[in-house]
Amino acid sequence: MARIVMKFGGTSMAGIERIRRVAQIVKQQADTGNEVAVVVSAMAGDTDRLVNFCREASSLYDAAEYDVVVASGEQVTSGLLSIALQSLGARARSWLGWQMPIRTVEAHSKARIETIDGSALTKAMQGGEIAIIPGFQGISEEGRITTLGRGGSDTSAVAIAAAVKADRCDIYTDVDGVYTTDPRIVTRARKLKTVTFEEMLELASVGAKVLQTRSVGLAMKEGVPIQVLSSFTEDGAPSADDLPGTMIIAEGDMEKEEMERQLITGIAHDKNESKITLTRVPDQPGAVANIFEPLAEAAINVDMIIQNVGREKGETDVTFTVPSADLDLAMQVLEKAQAGIGFNRLIPDTNVAKISVVGVGMKSHAGIASTMFKALADRGVNIQAITTSEIKVSVLIEEDYTELALRVLHTAYGLDAEDAV
Ligand code: ADP
Ligand code: ASP
Ligand code: MG
Repeated sequence: MARIVMKFGGTSMAGIERIRRVAQIVKQQADTGNEVAVVVSAMAGDTDRLVNFCREASSLYDAAEYDVVVASGEQVTSGLLSIALQSLGARARSWLGWQMPIRTVEAHSKARIETIDGSALTKAMQGGEIAIIPGFQGISEEGRITTLGRGGSDTSAVAIAAAVKADRCDIYTDVDGVYTTDPRIVTRARKLKTVTFEEMLELASVGAKVLQTRSVGLAMKEGVPIQVLSSFTEDGAPSADDLPGTMIIAEGDMEKEEMERQLITGIAHDKNESKITLTRVPDQPGAVANIFEPLAEAAINVDMIIQNVGREKGETDVTFTVPSADLDLAMQVLEKAQAGIGFNRLIPDTNVAKISVVGVGMKSHAGIASTMFKALADRGVNIQAITTSEIKVSVLIEEDYTELALRVLHTAYGLDAEDAV
Protein backbone atom coordinates (compact mmCIF):
# COMPACT_ATOMS: atom_id res chain seq x y z
CA MET A 1 0.00 0.00 0.00
CA ALA A 2 1.23 3.46 -0.86
CA ARG A 3 0.31 6.99 0.10
CA ILE A 4 -0.30 9.17 -2.96
CA VAL A 5 -1.02 12.89 -3.34
CA MET A 6 -2.83 13.64 -6.61
CA LYS A 7 -3.12 17.17 -8.02
CA PHE A 8 -5.55 18.25 -10.74
CA GLY A 9 -5.04 21.55 -12.61
CA GLY A 10 -7.54 24.07 -13.95
CA THR A 11 -8.42 22.40 -17.26
CA SER A 12 -8.86 19.07 -15.46
CA MET A 13 -11.40 20.73 -13.12
CA ALA A 14 -13.17 22.89 -15.74
CA GLY A 15 -16.85 22.04 -15.26
CA ILE A 16 -18.91 19.28 -13.72
CA GLU A 17 -18.22 16.77 -16.50
CA ARG A 18 -14.46 17.10 -16.03
CA ILE A 19 -14.81 16.93 -12.24
CA ARG A 20 -16.79 13.69 -12.61
CA ARG A 21 -13.93 12.24 -14.66
CA VAL A 22 -11.43 13.38 -11.99
CA ALA A 23 -13.58 11.69 -9.34
CA GLN A 24 -13.36 8.42 -11.29
CA ILE A 25 -9.57 8.68 -11.55
CA VAL A 26 -9.28 9.39 -7.82
CA LYS A 27 -11.64 6.55 -6.89
CA GLN A 28 -9.70 4.15 -9.12
CA GLN A 29 -6.53 5.09 -7.21
CA ALA A 30 -8.21 4.70 -3.81
CA ASP A 31 -9.79 1.38 -4.82
CA THR A 32 -6.31 -0.13 -5.25
CA GLY A 33 -5.97 0.22 -1.47
CA ASN A 34 -3.73 3.27 -1.53
CA GLU A 35 -4.21 6.21 0.83
CA VAL A 36 -5.13 9.25 -1.19
CA ALA A 37 -5.10 13.03 -0.76
CA VAL A 38 -6.14 15.25 -3.66
CA VAL A 39 -5.16 18.87 -4.31
CA VAL A 40 -7.31 20.81 -6.77
CA SER A 41 -7.04 24.03 -8.77
CA ALA A 42 -9.90 26.38 -9.55
CA MET A 43 -11.75 25.78 -12.84
CA ALA A 44 -9.67 27.03 -15.79
CA GLY A 45 -10.23 30.76 -16.31
CA ASP A 46 -11.85 31.32 -12.90
CA THR A 47 -8.75 32.69 -11.18
CA ASP A 48 -8.23 35.17 -14.06
CA ARG A 49 -11.86 36.25 -13.72
CA LEU A 50 -11.47 36.77 -9.96
CA VAL A 51 -8.23 38.73 -10.42
CA ASN A 52 -10.02 41.00 -12.91
CA PHE A 53 -12.83 41.63 -10.44
CA CYS A 54 -10.25 42.94 -7.96
CA ARG A 55 -8.69 45.18 -10.60
CA GLU A 56 -12.10 46.53 -11.60
CA ALA A 57 -13.01 47.21 -7.98
CA SER A 58 -9.88 49.32 -7.53
CA SER A 59 -6.58 49.61 -9.35
CA LEU A 60 -4.86 49.86 -5.97
CA TYR A 61 -6.49 46.87 -4.29
CA ASP A 62 -5.47 45.51 -0.89
CA ALA A 63 -3.46 42.29 -1.39
CA ALA A 64 -5.06 40.67 1.69
CA GLU A 65 -8.55 41.16 0.27
CA TYR A 66 -7.32 40.03 -3.19
CA ASP A 67 -6.36 36.74 -1.52
CA VAL A 68 -9.84 36.39 -0.01
CA VAL A 69 -11.32 36.79 -3.49
CA VAL A 70 -8.95 34.66 -5.59
CA ALA A 71 -8.69 31.78 -3.10
CA SER A 72 -12.42 31.18 -3.52
CA GLY A 73 -12.04 29.39 -6.90
CA GLU A 74 -10.33 26.43 -5.24
CA GLN A 75 -12.90 26.32 -2.43
CA VAL A 76 -15.60 25.71 -5.04
CA THR A 77 -13.76 22.88 -6.83
CA SER A 78 -12.70 21.11 -3.63
CA GLY A 79 -16.31 20.96 -2.46
CA LEU A 80 -17.56 19.85 -5.87
CA LEU A 81 -14.99 17.06 -6.14
CA SER A 82 -15.94 15.80 -2.66
CA ILE A 83 -19.61 15.72 -3.73
CA ALA A 84 -18.72 13.92 -6.99
CA LEU A 85 -16.69 11.31 -5.08
CA GLN A 86 -19.44 10.80 -2.52
CA SER A 87 -21.89 10.19 -5.35
CA LEU A 88 -19.59 7.37 -6.54
CA GLY A 89 -19.86 5.82 -3.09
CA ALA A 90 -16.45 6.95 -1.85
CA ARG A 91 -15.82 8.61 1.53
CA ALA A 92 -14.38 12.08 0.87
CA ARG A 93 -14.23 15.47 2.59
CA SER A 94 -12.65 18.83 1.88
CA TRP A 95 -9.93 20.37 4.05
CA LEU A 96 -9.57 24.13 3.52
CA GLY A 97 -6.19 25.77 4.08
CA TRP A 98 -7.18 27.11 7.52
CA GLN A 99 -8.64 23.79 8.66
CA MET A 100 -5.42 21.75 8.34
CA PRO A 101 -3.82 24.32 8.75
CA ILE A 102 -1.34 25.29 5.99
CA ARG A 103 0.68 28.11 7.56
CA THR A 104 2.33 30.63 5.26
CA VAL A 105 4.27 33.87 5.61
CA GLU A 106 2.27 37.09 5.55
CA ALA A 107 3.24 38.10 1.94
CA HIS A 108 -0.25 38.27 0.44
CA SER A 109 -0.64 37.14 -3.21
CA LYS A 110 2.82 35.53 -3.19
CA ALA A 111 3.02 33.77 0.18
CA ARG A 112 5.47 30.97 0.92
CA ILE A 113 4.42 27.88 2.90
CA GLU A 114 6.12 27.67 6.30
CA THR A 115 4.57 24.62 7.92
CA ILE A 116 1.76 22.17 7.31
CA ASP A 117 0.19 20.18 10.10
CA GLY A 118 -0.44 16.90 8.30
CA SER A 119 -1.62 14.96 11.36
CA ALA A 120 -5.41 15.30 10.93
CA LEU A 121 -5.06 14.62 7.24
CA THR A 122 -2.95 11.52 7.82
CA LYS A 123 -5.45 10.22 10.35
CA ALA A 124 -8.35 10.74 7.94
CA MET A 125 -6.48 9.01 5.11
CA GLN A 126 -5.54 6.09 7.37
CA GLY A 127 -9.23 5.80 8.20
CA GLY A 128 -10.01 5.31 4.51
CA GLU A 129 -11.27 8.81 3.78
CA ILE A 130 -10.14 10.67 0.66
CA ALA A 131 -8.89 14.14 1.65
CA ILE A 132 -9.61 16.94 -0.84
CA ILE A 133 -7.52 20.09 -0.42
CA PRO A 134 -7.96 23.37 -2.30
CA GLY A 135 -4.56 24.28 -3.76
CA PHE A 136 -3.05 27.77 -3.89
CA GLN A 137 -4.22 28.82 -0.40
CA GLY A 138 -2.93 28.98 3.15
CA ILE A 139 -3.34 30.99 6.31
CA SER A 140 -1.05 33.67 7.76
CA GLU A 141 0.02 33.98 11.37
CA GLU A 142 -2.65 36.66 11.74
CA GLY A 143 -5.23 34.07 10.69
CA ARG A 144 -5.94 35.62 7.30
CA ILE A 145 -6.21 33.76 3.99
CA THR A 146 -3.11 33.89 1.80
CA THR A 147 -2.38 32.66 -1.75
CA LEU A 148 0.85 31.26 -3.15
CA GLY A 149 1.24 33.06 -6.49
CA ARG A 150 -0.16 31.98 -9.85
CA GLY A 151 0.20 28.29 -10.59
CA GLY A 152 0.65 27.72 -6.84
CA SER A 153 -1.48 24.57 -6.56
CA ASP A 154 1.52 22.56 -7.76
CA THR A 155 3.41 23.85 -4.72
CA SER A 156 0.48 23.06 -2.41
CA ALA A 157 0.49 19.48 -3.70
CA VAL A 158 4.23 18.94 -3.19
CA ALA A 159 4.13 20.57 0.25
CA ILE A 160 1.26 18.32 1.32
CA ALA A 161 3.05 15.28 -0.11
CA ALA A 162 6.06 16.18 2.04
CA ALA A 163 3.90 16.83 5.13
CA VAL A 164 2.11 13.46 4.97
CA LYS A 165 5.28 11.66 3.81
CA ALA A 166 3.64 10.52 0.58
CA ASP A 167 5.38 8.01 -1.65
CA ARG A 168 4.65 10.09 -4.74
CA CYS A 169 3.01 13.29 -5.91
CA ASP A 170 1.08 12.82 -9.16
CA ILE A 171 0.44 16.07 -11.05
CA TYR A 172 -2.45 15.56 -13.48
CA THR A 173 -2.70 18.17 -16.22
CA ASP A 174 -3.84 18.64 -19.84
CA VAL A 175 -0.70 17.12 -21.42
CA ASP A 176 0.56 13.62 -20.67
CA GLY A 177 4.01 14.52 -19.38
CA VAL A 178 6.95 16.88 -19.62
CA TYR A 179 8.06 17.31 -23.21
CA THR A 180 11.28 18.51 -24.82
CA THR A 181 9.39 21.78 -25.42
CA ASP A 182 5.79 23.01 -25.17
CA PRO A 183 3.90 20.35 -27.20
CA ARG A 184 1.15 22.85 -27.94
CA ILE A 185 3.63 24.90 -29.96
CA VAL A 186 6.03 22.33 -31.40
CA THR A 187 4.17 19.25 -32.63
CA ARG A 188 7.48 17.37 -32.91
CA ALA A 189 8.13 17.73 -29.17
CA ARG A 190 9.01 14.44 -27.52
CA LYS A 191 7.76 13.20 -24.16
CA LEU A 192 10.51 12.62 -21.58
CA LYS A 193 10.42 9.49 -19.44
CA THR A 194 12.45 11.07 -16.66
CA VAL A 195 13.77 14.56 -15.89
CA THR A 196 16.10 15.45 -13.00
CA PHE A 197 14.92 17.92 -10.35
CA GLU A 198 17.73 20.24 -11.36
CA GLU A 199 16.71 20.27 -15.03
CA MET A 200 13.01 20.66 -14.23
CA LEU A 201 13.79 23.52 -11.86
CA GLU A 202 15.71 25.31 -14.58
CA LEU A 203 13.07 24.54 -17.25
CA ALA A 204 10.25 25.81 -15.01
CA SER A 205 12.15 28.95 -14.05
CA VAL A 206 12.64 29.88 -17.71
CA GLY A 207 9.00 29.45 -18.66
CA ALA A 208 7.97 25.77 -18.95
CA LYS A 209 4.78 26.39 -17.00
CA VAL A 210 3.80 22.72 -16.72
CA LEU A 211 5.07 22.93 -13.09
CA GLN A 212 5.38 26.00 -10.87
CA THR A 213 9.09 26.63 -10.22
CA ARG A 214 8.69 26.67 -6.45
CA SER A 215 7.01 23.26 -6.44
CA VAL A 216 10.07 21.72 -8.10
CA GLY A 217 12.48 23.39 -5.67
CA LEU A 218 10.44 22.08 -2.76
CA ALA A 219 10.23 18.55 -4.20
CA MET A 220 14.01 18.56 -4.66
CA LYS A 221 14.59 19.73 -1.10
CA GLU A 222 12.11 17.29 0.44
CA GLY A 223 12.92 14.39 -1.90
CA VAL A 224 9.33 14.02 -3.14
CA PRO A 225 9.19 12.15 -6.48
CA ILE A 226 6.81 13.92 -8.88
CA GLN A 227 5.00 12.30 -11.76
CA VAL A 228 3.37 14.46 -14.46
CA LEU A 229 0.49 12.82 -16.32
CA SER A 230 -2.78 13.58 -18.09
CA SER A 231 -6.29 13.57 -16.64
CA PHE A 232 -7.67 13.55 -20.18
CA THR A 233 -7.85 9.78 -20.40
CA GLU A 234 -10.74 7.54 -21.34
CA ASP A 235 -12.79 5.62 -18.87
CA GLY A 236 -10.98 2.31 -18.26
CA ALA A 237 -7.48 3.77 -18.82
CA PRO A 238 -4.71 2.22 -16.70
CA SER A 239 -4.04 3.69 -13.27
CA ALA A 240 -1.17 6.09 -12.52
CA ASP A 241 1.25 3.25 -11.74
CA ASP A 242 1.02 1.99 -15.32
CA LEU A 243 0.49 5.26 -17.20
CA PRO A 244 3.52 6.49 -19.10
CA GLY A 245 3.86 9.99 -17.65
CA THR A 246 7.11 11.79 -16.80
CA MET A 247 8.93 11.15 -13.51
CA ILE A 248 10.90 14.02 -11.96
CA ILE A 249 13.63 12.42 -9.85
CA ALA A 250 17.09 12.96 -8.35
CA GLU A 251 20.06 12.66 -10.71
CA GLY A 252 21.33 9.68 -8.70
CA ASP A 253 18.11 7.75 -9.34
CA MET A 254 18.37 8.16 -13.10
CA GLU A 255 18.90 5.02 -15.17
CA LYS A 256 22.18 4.92 -17.04
CA GLU A 257 20.68 4.91 -20.53
CA GLU A 258 18.57 7.96 -19.64
CA MET A 259 21.67 9.80 -18.39
CA GLU A 260 23.38 9.23 -21.69
CA ARG A 261 20.64 10.76 -23.77
CA GLN A 262 20.81 14.06 -25.62
CA LEU A 263 22.83 16.92 -24.18
CA ILE A 264 19.76 19.11 -24.18
CA THR A 265 16.75 18.12 -22.07
CA GLY A 266 14.40 20.80 -23.23
CA ILE A 267 13.71 24.23 -24.64
CA ALA A 268 11.41 26.75 -22.97
CA HIS A 269 10.05 30.17 -23.84
CA ASP A 270 8.85 33.08 -21.74
CA LYS A 271 6.81 35.95 -23.15
CA ASN A 272 6.32 37.57 -19.76
CA GLU A 273 9.47 39.66 -19.72
CA SER A 274 9.97 43.19 -21.09
CA LYS A 275 13.12 44.97 -22.11
CA ILE A 276 14.28 48.40 -20.91
CA THR A 277 17.14 50.32 -22.49
CA LEU A 278 18.80 53.36 -20.91
CA THR A 279 20.81 55.36 -23.42
CA ARG A 280 23.93 57.40 -22.78
CA VAL A 281 24.61 56.27 -19.21
CA PRO A 282 27.97 57.54 -17.85
CA ASP A 283 30.58 54.78 -18.45
CA GLN A 284 32.12 54.93 -14.96
CA PRO A 285 32.22 52.93 -11.71
CA GLY A 286 28.93 53.06 -9.80
CA ALA A 287 26.73 53.90 -12.79
CA VAL A 288 25.20 50.43 -13.07
CA ALA A 289 24.68 50.24 -9.30
CA ASN A 290 22.75 53.53 -9.53
CA ILE A 291 20.35 51.86 -11.98
CA PHE A 292 19.77 48.59 -10.18
CA GLU A 293 19.65 49.80 -6.58
CA PRO A 294 16.31 51.63 -6.90
CA LEU A 295 14.86 48.66 -8.82
CA ALA A 296 15.91 46.28 -6.04
CA GLU A 297 14.40 48.61 -3.45
CA ALA A 298 11.10 48.41 -5.36
CA ALA A 299 11.41 44.55 -5.24
CA ILE A 300 11.69 44.34 -9.04
CA ASN A 301 13.61 41.30 -10.26
CA VAL A 302 16.02 42.07 -13.08
CA ASP A 303 16.84 39.09 -15.26
CA MET A 304 19.06 39.56 -18.35
CA ILE A 305 21.50 42.47 -18.39
CA ILE A 306 23.77 43.80 -21.13
CA GLN A 307 26.01 46.81 -21.06
CA ASN A 308 26.96 47.88 -24.54
CA VAL A 309 30.45 48.83 -25.64
CA GLY A 310 31.25 52.35 -24.43
CA ARG A 311 30.83 55.15 -26.92
CA GLU A 312 32.94 58.22 -27.25
CA LYS A 313 32.52 60.83 -24.52
CA GLY A 314 32.52 58.12 -21.80
CA GLU A 315 28.92 57.01 -22.31
CA THR A 316 27.27 53.63 -22.81
CA ASP A 317 23.80 52.07 -23.27
CA VAL A 318 22.48 49.61 -20.67
CA THR A 319 19.73 47.07 -21.50
CA PHE A 320 17.96 44.64 -19.16
CA THR A 321 14.72 42.72 -18.72
CA VAL A 322 12.10 42.81 -15.96
CA PRO A 323 8.81 40.88 -15.52
CA SER A 324 6.22 42.57 -17.78
CA ALA A 325 3.92 42.91 -14.76
CA ASP A 326 6.56 45.22 -13.18
CA LEU A 327 7.35 47.25 -16.32
CA ASP A 328 5.25 50.32 -15.43
CA LEU A 329 6.65 50.39 -11.91
CA ALA A 330 10.23 49.98 -13.20
CA MET A 331 9.74 52.88 -15.63
CA GLN A 332 8.39 55.09 -12.83
CA VAL A 333 11.27 54.18 -10.51
CA LEU A 334 13.90 54.89 -13.19
CA GLU A 335 12.31 58.18 -14.29
CA LYS A 336 12.42 59.31 -10.69
CA ALA A 337 16.09 58.33 -10.43
CA GLN A 338 17.08 59.94 -13.76
CA ALA A 339 19.11 62.78 -12.25
CA GLY A 340 21.12 60.40 -10.06
CA ILE A 341 21.76 57.87 -12.85
CA GLY A 342 22.32 60.41 -15.61
CA PHE A 343 20.84 58.65 -18.67
CA ASN A 344 19.44 60.32 -21.76
CA ARG A 345 16.47 58.17 -22.88
CA LEU A 346 14.46 55.35 -21.32
CA ILE A 347 13.10 52.93 -23.96
CA PRO A 348 10.63 50.15 -22.97
CA ASP A 349 9.96 47.18 -25.30
CA THR A 350 7.30 44.58 -24.56
CA ASN A 351 7.70 42.81 -27.92
CA VAL A 352 10.37 40.37 -26.72
CA ALA A 353 10.56 36.70 -25.73
CA LYS A 354 13.20 34.72 -23.91
CA ILE A 355 14.15 31.34 -25.37
CA SER A 356 16.20 28.99 -23.19
CA VAL A 357 17.85 25.63 -23.79
CA VAL A 358 18.44 23.48 -20.70
CA GLY A 359 20.40 20.28 -20.10
CA VAL A 360 22.79 18.82 -17.51
CA GLY A 361 24.90 17.55 -20.44
CA MET A 362 26.07 21.13 -20.93
CA LYS A 363 28.29 20.85 -17.88
CA SER A 364 30.69 18.65 -19.79
CA HIS A 365 30.21 19.68 -23.42
CA ALA A 366 31.25 22.76 -25.36
CA GLY A 367 29.46 24.17 -28.37
CA ILE A 368 25.88 24.21 -27.05
CA ALA A 369 25.61 28.01 -27.22
CA SER A 370 27.22 28.31 -30.63
CA THR A 371 24.73 25.78 -32.08
CA MET A 372 21.96 27.98 -30.74
CA PHE A 373 23.36 31.22 -32.15
CA LYS A 374 24.06 29.68 -35.57
CA ALA A 375 20.63 28.04 -35.89
CA LEU A 376 18.92 31.33 -35.08
CA ALA A 377 21.21 33.37 -37.35
CA ASP A 378 20.52 31.01 -40.28
CA ARG A 379 16.83 31.89 -39.98
CA GLY A 380 17.49 35.62 -39.61
CA VAL A 381 16.49 35.76 -35.92
CA ASN A 382 18.35 38.57 -34.17
CA ILE A 383 19.62 37.99 -30.61
CA GLN A 384 19.15 41.01 -28.34
CA ALA A 385 20.62 39.67 -25.07
CA ILE A 386 22.22 36.47 -23.77
CA THR A 387 22.58 34.88 -20.33
CA THR A 388 24.01 31.52 -19.33
CA SER A 389 24.21 29.27 -16.29
CA GLU A 390 25.92 25.92 -15.82
CA ILE A 391 23.04 24.04 -17.43
CA LYS A 392 21.22 26.75 -19.43
CA VAL A 393 21.64 29.26 -22.26
CA SER A 394 18.98 31.95 -22.75
CA VAL A 395 18.56 34.48 -25.55
CA LEU A 396 16.19 37.39 -25.93
CA ILE A 397 14.54 37.74 -29.35
CA GLU A 398 11.63 39.59 -30.97
CA GLU A 399 8.40 37.98 -29.71
CA ASP A 400 7.03 37.33 -33.20
CA TYR A 401 9.84 34.83 -33.81
CA THR A 402 9.08 32.68 -30.73
CA GLU A 403 7.44 29.74 -32.50
CA LEU A 404 10.02 29.75 -35.30
CA ALA A 405 12.91 29.83 -32.83
CA LEU A 406 11.48 26.95 -30.79
CA ARG A 407 11.00 24.79 -33.88
CA VAL A 408 14.41 25.58 -35.37
CA LEU A 409 16.28 24.92 -32.11
CA HIS A 410 14.34 21.74 -31.44
CA THR A 411 15.56 20.37 -34.76
CA ALA A 412 19.09 21.78 -34.38
CA TYR A 413 19.61 19.89 -31.11
CA GLY A 414 18.23 16.66 -32.57
CA LEU A 415 15.22 16.60 -30.27
CA ASP A 416 12.46 16.02 -32.86
CA ALA A 417 10.34 12.95 -32.22
CA GLU A 418 11.33 10.07 -34.48
CA ASP A 419 7.81 9.51 -35.72
CA ALA A 420 7.26 13.22 -36.44
CA VAL A 421 6.25 14.13 -39.98
P1 ADP B 1 -2.62 23.06 -15.06
O1 ADP B 1 -3.83 23.91 -15.25
O2 ADP B 1 -2.93 21.60 -15.08
O3 ADP B 1 -1.79 23.47 -13.88
P2 ADP B 1 -0.79 24.45 -16.86
O4 ADP B 1 -1.49 25.18 -17.97
O5 ADP B 1 -0.30 25.25 -15.71
O6 ADP B 1 -1.73 23.26 -16.38
O7 ADP B 1 0.44 23.61 -17.45
C1 ADP B 1 0.25 22.72 -18.53
C2 ADP B 1 0.69 23.38 -19.83
O8 ADP B 1 2.10 23.60 -19.81
C3 ADP B 1 0.51 22.54 -21.08
O9 ADP B 1 -0.79 22.68 -21.60
C4 ADP B 1 1.59 23.06 -22.03
O10 ADP B 1 1.05 23.94 -23.00
C5 ADP B 1 2.52 23.86 -21.12
N1 ADP B 1 3.94 23.48 -21.27
C6 ADP B 1 4.96 24.38 -21.43
N2 ADP B 1 6.12 23.74 -21.57
C7 ADP B 1 5.87 22.40 -21.47
C8 ADP B 1 6.70 21.23 -21.54
N3 ADP B 1 8.03 21.30 -21.71
N4 ADP B 1 6.10 20.03 -21.42
C9 ADP B 1 4.77 19.93 -21.23
N5 ADP B 1 3.93 21.02 -21.17
C10 ADP B 1 4.48 22.24 -21.30
N1 ASP C 1 -5.87 28.73 -9.63
C1 ASP C 1 -4.54 29.28 -9.44
C2 ASP C 1 -4.04 29.91 -10.72
O1 ASP C 1 -4.73 29.88 -11.73
C3 ASP C 1 -3.56 28.29 -8.89
C4 ASP C 1 -3.31 27.07 -9.77
O2 ASP C 1 -4.17 26.71 -10.59
O3 ASP C 1 -2.25 26.47 -9.64
O4 ASP C 1 -2.98 30.48 -10.74
MG1 MG D 1 -0.29 24.96 -13.62
